[in-house]
Amino acid sequence: MNSTETLKQNLAGTILLPGNPGYDEARSIWNGMIDRRPAIIVRCRTEADVARAVEYARDNHLLVSIRGGGHNIAGHAVCDGGLMIDLSTMKEVRVDASASRVRVQPGATLFDVDRATQAHGLATPTGINSTTGIAGLALGGGFGWLSRKVGLTSDNLVSARMVTAEAECIQASATSHPDLYWALRGGGGNFGVVTEFEFALHPIGPEVFSGLVVFPRSEAATVLRKYRNFAAAAPDELSVWVLMRQAPPLPFLPREVHGENVLVLALCYLGSEESGRKLIAPLADFGKVLGQHVGMQPFTAWQQAFDPLLTPGARNYWKSHNFRELKDGLLDTLVELAGQLPSPQCEIFIGQLGGQVARLAADATAFGNRDATFVMNVHGRWNSPAEDKADIAWAREVYRRTLPFATGGAYSNFLTAEETERVKSAFGANYARLAKVKASYDPGNFFRMNQNILPEGTYTTGQGKSSNLASEIAERNVR
Ligand SMILES: Cc1cc2nc3c(=O)[nH]c(=O)nc-3n(C[C@H](O)[C@H](O)[C@H](O)COP(=O)(O)OP(=O)(O)OC[C@H]3O[C@@H](n4cnc5c(N)ncnc54)[C@H](O)[C@@H]3O)c2cc1C
Repeated sequence: MNSTETLKQNLAGTILLPGNPGYDEARSIWNGMIDRRPAIIVRCRTEADVARAVEYARDNHLLVSIRGGGHNIAGHAVCDGGLMIDLSTMKEVRVDASASRVRVQPGATLFDVDRATQAHGLATPTGINSTTGIAGLALGGGFGWLSRKVGLTSDNLVSARMVTAEAECIQASATSHPDLYWALRGGGGNFGVVTEFEFALHPIGPEVFSGLVVFPRSEAATVLRKYRNFAAAAPDELSVWVLMRQAPPLPFLPREVHGENVLVLALCYLGSEESGRKLIAPLADFGKVLGQHVGMQPFTAWQQAFDPLLTPGARNYWKSHNFRELKDGLLDTLVELAGQLPSPQCEIFIGQLGGQVARLAADATAFGNRDATFVMNVHGRWNSPAEDKADIAWAREVYRRTLPFATGGAYSNFLTAEETERVKSAFGANYARLAKVKASYDPGNFFRMNQNILPEGTYTTGQGKSSNLASEIAERNVR
């Protein structure tokens, strides 16, 4: 019996080889630009399966990739010719309401987490698209509508179970492997395969005051200046994000607005409808409101509100920056470039942080760059390969023209595969400590399909920049 057969027999889950039914589906991820073919996909059911997959990859000198929700723009969930650890069927979510804790398996999506926790009127902060995987999001940081009030997803990580590069199962928490616990809160998938997360929960909703206010792009420059002042004074309970794109055919917008370039303020307030309405009253005077849809709705519904714009399979290319403030020059540049959207699905997103995220010390966890008050993500998004060039060029142009206003930091979960030179910036001053932890838990850089942290002392370029090792190895597909 060959070793693949032995592996198969020892798994509670399954393996998928090229040509097997389900293989192509399993290797497809959110970003339709990524088309990689693992030599073997191990669809794990249990922690023991994960350990066996790691052992098998190690024994056979295979490159390993880890798939949680498969949303990462860089496509690190899938490797060419190596072994993909597919966690997508490990989706159990167990709530302990009396302890305000939830245990989550790594294949769960944000939807799975919200559904289970909101049944108890509780939530942990996550992102704004319910089909995103909790695993990659939490390991890289994770922010959304609750973050200004209760921090990042990773700030709410209480413990994690992990399979190491030696195929050992360990637990990280404040009292067990505290160095690893620190690193897992923002350091990404560099240290091992997390098989269970434990998060803190907070009373939220189950209804939140939330929705959209839509303005014409022609008034965007004024609206953004007013938004800047408004956001600076907003309480932690209120988050207002900016979205510049073509108006979707939303029922509350007049038909003639559909497809027009607009600026959308998307907001969520964690309080009563009455105080929410008072708080957001000034928005109506920001400019000519084309339409608005704001009110109390289930938190789970608001968490899914953007899903129709972010469906899987389209071609996507992102560029992102962190900003401490929204200077006039930045706003004018964004308004100009939002007027040149190359495809109907392209958009510029600005998420509002600050609040509790900024209150923690920069080295409290591995998450770098807590100084970002706003995180911009330029979503190049289109369907046909014929549009690749124009859409990628537009996203790069927005990035280039807004660079002078940026902090120089980055959010690791928004980086594309080609941005290896920004990995160090994403971890900021925490990089050196992360490299030490990496050297303790994965000295051979076995887990390198990620925003790669090099084990301390192993590989740096003459310029001291982070190297392209991860992508080089991925390309060469050798160990
Ligand atoms: C449409 C969309 C909306 C988004 N919105 C937000 C948002 O609002 N807020 C936000 O913070 N981010 C957001 N993101 C970014 C998101 O946080 C990242 O894409 C994240 O990596 C997704 O996690 P995943 O598990 O789905 O990804 P995957 O592609 O499955 O995994 C990404 C990487 O995480 C690591 N990883 C995954 N699972 C494990 C594991 N169990 N153990 C160890 N390492 C693992 C691996 O390195 C893997 O390559 C969004 C992304 C998309 C595509």
